[in-house]
Amino acid sequence: MEVHARCLLPFAVRDCLRLPAVLAMSNIIPLKYVPADARAGEGANALLRASALASAHAGPLVDVLGRGLSDLRISVTDRCNFRCIYCMPKDVFDADYPYLPHADLLTFEEIARVAKVFVGLGVRKIRLTGGEPLLRRNLERLVEMLARLGDLDLTLTTNGTLLAKKARSLRDAGLTRVTVSLDSLDDATFRRMNDVDFPVAGVLAGIDAAAAAGLSPLKINMVVKAGVNEDSIVPMARHWKGTGHILRFIEYMDVGATNGWRMDDVVPAAEIVRMIAAELPLAPADPNYNGEVAQRWRYADGSGEIGVIASVTQAFCRDCTRARLSTEGKLHTCLFATHGHDLRDLVRGGFSDEQLGNAIAAVWSRRADRYSELRTAATARAPKVEMSYIGG
Ligand code: SAM
Ligand code: SF4
Ligand code: SF4
Repeated sequence: MEVHARCLLPFAVRDCLRLPAVLAMSNIIPLKYVPADARAGEGANALLRASALASAHAGPLVDVLGRGLSDLRISVTDRCNFRCIYCMPKDVFDADYPYLPHADLLTFEEIARVAKVFVGLGVRKIRLTGGEPLLRRNLERLVEMLARLGDLDLTLTTNGTLLAKKARSLRDAGLTRVTVSLDSLDDATFRRMNDVDFPVAGVLAGIDAAAAAGLSPLKINMVVKAGVNEDSIVPMARHWKGTGHILRFIEYMDVGATNGWRMDDVVPAAEIVRMIAAELPLAPADPNYNGEVAQRWRYADGSGEIGVIASVTQAFCRDCTRARLSTEGKLHTCLFATHGHDLRDLVRGGFSDEQLGNAIAAVWSRRADRYSELRTAATARAPKVEMSYIGG
């Protein structure tokens, strides 16, 4: 049997053998062509190193399904001050949970360097996320470094708890927009969902501060879990209608392996739209750009729009141009990936920016992810990295 270098990167050999279609589409380097110094002694990352040393890719960078690379999500911490029931359930993410030690995190300089390489490969939108990104000390310094990379849409997703304090300094550092997560306006429901008894008022203060600082248009993310906050859908729509902020409803997803997801917990986006439209008439709106995650709906009276993110019931993998950089520098090509490609090893191993670009391009050109299109009850139980680690 011939062992192939490139297919060893995302899959174990036995998985390669089960995936002839992926192999057929991949640009494969037989192992005999991998330089010996890249193979020797570097363990699991030898083949990523080999891709870094291979010649640069030519032409537009697309994956095996023809998708470009235009968005980068960067997780700056795997820690959070919330324990949202659908993301970091308290009984798992307790005091004994093995969060990453500080030395394992990419430094701001390392993140900025990797981001620069991604921008060179075509990335135009960078989102900082986590865990809770505003827990990372002096995040403004990273924002400043990223803002210098060029004309980017530079944004951040936050639970809003520290936004009242930080909105102005983030804006001054060069952040262009912000997305705030808020699952209900009903205080008891919200406290139950964040599971640390944090009040709605604290997040509303953060949203006001972000708007006052000019971090707009502001988006507000509401994850809908059946039987938990369904009755908050219409009140949320009413509250944000006419404010200029864009409320987006997210179907509850089977991210990670700890939230106990079941299909019955999902309120389909079509049902969410139906509930709102019954009281506040809506009309469909065109996407702002190719690959937009949310489906847009406008209020018929012209007072704004909402979005629905139907990741479960209407998968949008075919337009997915997003890469994710984990807190410790692993490149993940899908939110539901089981593992990532260790870029930190290259960053700390003396590889040049060009070589880093080669490695990222090699990973992307082999990418065939379309988890949401293939989701079943069985895949939902498969081991996957946690959203708080990979970044939402
Ligand atoms: N802590 C920040 C926050 O909550 O905004 C950023 C990280 S969080 C992982 C990013 C987004 O993912 C949030 O809007 C959150 O609501 C969403 N999210 C987390 N778990 C989810 C799940 N199981 N299904 C759908 N969305 C989820
Ligand atoms: Fe924290 Fe965001 Fe996950 Fe909630 S969704 S636990 S705020 S990372
Ligand atoms: Fe992209 Fe993976 Fe989500 Fe599909 S499942 S949209 S490939 S992140």
